[in-house]
Amino acid sequence: MARKTENTGFVCINCGADVPPIASGTIRNHCPGCLCSLHVDMDIGDRLCDCRGLMRPRAIEYHSQKGWQIFHRCVACGFERKNMTADDDNLDEILKIMRNSAF
Ligand SMILES: [Zn+2]
Ligand SMILES: [Zn+2]
Repeated sequence: MARKTENTGFVCINCGADVPPIASGTIRNHCPGCLCSLHVDMDIGDRLCDCRGLMRPRAIEYHSQKGWQIFHRCVACGFERKNMTADDDNLDEILKIMRNSAF
C-alpha cells in the first residue's frame, strides 16, 4: 500500500514543469526536462527527508546492470545520490551533462 505513494507527479522547482507520474511503473524521482530532483528521500522513495533542497544533475554514469544513471547532488546540503534515467528524460540535457562532467 505504501509503495503507491512513491509514483506521484510533482511540479519541478527548477524549471516549473508540471511532471506527470511515470507510465512504466518505476519511481519518478527527477524532472524529465531539466533532470533536476528534490532532496526528499532518505532512502529511495521514502519521502522522509525534510531537506527539500534542489538536487542538480552532476554527471551521467553507465551501470552494467541498471543502465544509465544520473548522479545528483543536493545544492542545500551536498547529499549525493544516483538515480536511474527514465524513458522520457530529455536526451539533449543528458548529453549536455555528459559533455560537462569531469568523468
Ligand atoms: Zn525541471
Ligand atoms: Zn539536501
